[in-house]
Amino acid sequence: MTCAEDDCDRPVAVELHIPWRDNRLVCAPHARVLGRQDGVVADPIVERGDDLLESDR
Ligand SMILES: [Zn+2]
Repeated sequence: MTCAEDDCDRPVAVELHIPWRDNRLVCAPHARVLGRQDGVVADPIVERGDDLLESDR
């Protein structure tokens, strides 16, 4: 999957939770820019879901 921003084909790295619109899947550089807006939460996407479950050991 690639970044939701126009003219950007970098791979998706972060899901932005945006209160005033739908969530947006973007690359890391765009997440850094868009995530600066008030109320936006940047949620890094971890491809290795299994590792996430084991991380508290
Ligand atoms: Zn991008």
